[in-house]
Amino acid sequence: MAELKGISASPGIVTGKVFVYKDDNPQVPKYDIHSSRVPLELERLRDALDKAAAEIEDIKKNHSRDIISNGGNFLDSHLMMLRDPEFKENLARELRDKLKNIEWILYRNMQALMDKLGSSEDPYLRERAADIHDVSRRILNHLMFREQISLADLTDEVILVGRDLMPSEAMAMNQKKVLGLAMEEGGRTSHTAILARAFGIPAVLGLRGITRLARNGDEVLIDGNRGLAFVNPDEATKSRYRKTQALWHRREEELHGLNSLPAETRDGKKIGLLGNIEIPEEVESLRHHGAEGIGLYRSEFLFLQPGRLPSEEAQCRAYGRVLEAMEGKSVTIRTLDLGGDKMSPEMADSAERNPLLGWRAIRFCLSRTRLFQTQLRALFRASVRGKLKIMFPMISGVEELEEALFLVDETRKGLRSEGIPFDEEVEVGIMIETPSAAVTSDILADKASFFSIGTNDLIQYAIAVDRGNHKVAYLYEPFHPGVLRLIAATIRNAHQRGIRVALCGEMAGDPLATVILLGLGLDEFSMSASSIPEVKKIIRSVTTGEAEEFARRVMEMTSCREIDAFIRRHMEEKFDVLSY
Ligand code: PEP
Ligand code: MG
Repeated sequence: MAELKGISASPGIVTGKVFVYKDDNPQVPKYDIHSSRVPLELERLRDALDKAAAEIEDIKKNHSRDIISNGGNFLDSHLMMLRDPEFKENLARELRDKLKNIEWILYRNMQALMDKLGSSEDPYLRERAADIHDVSRRILNHLMFREQISLADLTDEVILVGRDLMPSEAMAMNQKKVLGLAMEEGGRTSHTAILARAFGIPAVLGLRGITRLARNGDEVLIDGNRGLAFVNPDEATKSRYRKTQALWHRREEELHGLNSLPAETRDGKKIGLLGNIEIPEEVESLRHHGAEGIGLYRSEFLFLQPGRLPSEEAQCRAYGRVLEAMEGKSVTIRTLDLGGDKMSPEMADSAERNPLLGWRAIRFCLSRTRLFQTQLRALFRASVRGKLKIMFPMISGVEELEEALFLVDETRKGLRSEGIPFDEEVEVGIMIETPSAAVTSDILADKASFFSIGTNDLIQYAIAVDRGNHKVAYLYEPFHPGVLRLIAATIRNAHQRGIRVALCGEMAGDPLATVILLGLGLDEFSMSASSIPEVKKIIRSVTTGEAEEFARRVMEMTSCREIDAFIRRHMEEKFDVLSY
């Protein structure tokens, strides 16, 4: 058995047969041609481009408009490239100059472009290299009459193993036959991750070495919740996972019973249990898991697709669809949190020394006010279609909040003067994800309608530990007394000023953290859909007094290790929480 650790990109546990999807580079022939053959070669190129474009049109036809507009904008940019006269003209010029066969000319051109983009530090540009690869392979397949293995034609249920899936391949695959994805490359913001979540397929990405270790027909178990893959898992692992899976299924069944029941403590205190989404397709799963609303819609995912930035109209449609689908339940949409590890075309030329401490989130928006106000207009226009709340990411001090609120006011004024309707009651809140915001939360609470604690970043900035760096991952500790004190102070300050506090980092969905957060007075938890049932079960089996007493004891402890051991013991004994 081989165990690999990657990035959990889409939740779920699944075992199945490996299908190694070889994204192999074709052996491209190279030979000289006579100048009289140039028109013939150009004719072959035109033919291959037309066929490749027809294939993409087919993929587009076979998918719902929602998936295309939210996860599949890249198909349009592939089409644009295939139909771009300049692209064809450049190849024709090289063909006349070099007098080599057209597949070689195309291959060399694309390779040079991909090398340039692929070696970039910027994840957005690296993703564009994947697009170029995708398009060029499609054209080469036609030029060389290569049979393309089509994931649309899969007849057996498999777990796809490969380097990465091209976006158009992910769109084309037969979703009923693909049980899971285990890929070498990719991260949470890659297309593969976005589409896997939208399709509800468990996925682990960033699994270094998986294509070397797994062979066709091998068995593989993937744990999309924790980002693990086991090639040819041994009996002990399988049996452990059978238990975990059985527990999951049992919980799923319990969920049907819990769905209609409120998330409230035994003594009747109502707690908000909401969901996090990246693309509108996830709404269905949230409803299925009993979410009472959306606590975090990461709107930047709309901006991470290749091609043009989404217009005000396109944004308004996407936000409106989510608001309508939630049928009056509250939907908190976070304004753009680009930068750091999430790059947009706008930021592509801004290589930074410390991107996580750099030009990101609200800082980016306040220096790109046109782009920010376009988003604000789209949000307010969509607000008539449901119950919208808006929140700003990465607020570090009161000036930023005041500036952002000023732009909100300007947007409202503009809409009023144009006679465009919007909901005057939209609440505007902030994320607390920098230590400075947590410490000054008493000041910020006077200006924000609500707080949502972003522990993913708060932990990173409080302990000074990059959340994506595996070398220091051991320091990334949600139960660090420093982190718990920041959370406690934020909740206390907010309540003293009469505003509610949510938490939307991964910690909200960690059942080990439920009681301590309840005891500290948290009002709302927002998490990915699949975590909701277990957290609800714990909330319903504890009283406020018990949780407060538990929190009091934890806050007296001085080290992570002591707190961690105490919490695990308590949660396993009292709430049957699985400890990994
Ligand atoms: C967070 O930082 O906790 C958060 C929810 O935002 P993101 O993970 O998108 O940075
Ligand atoms: Mg964050």
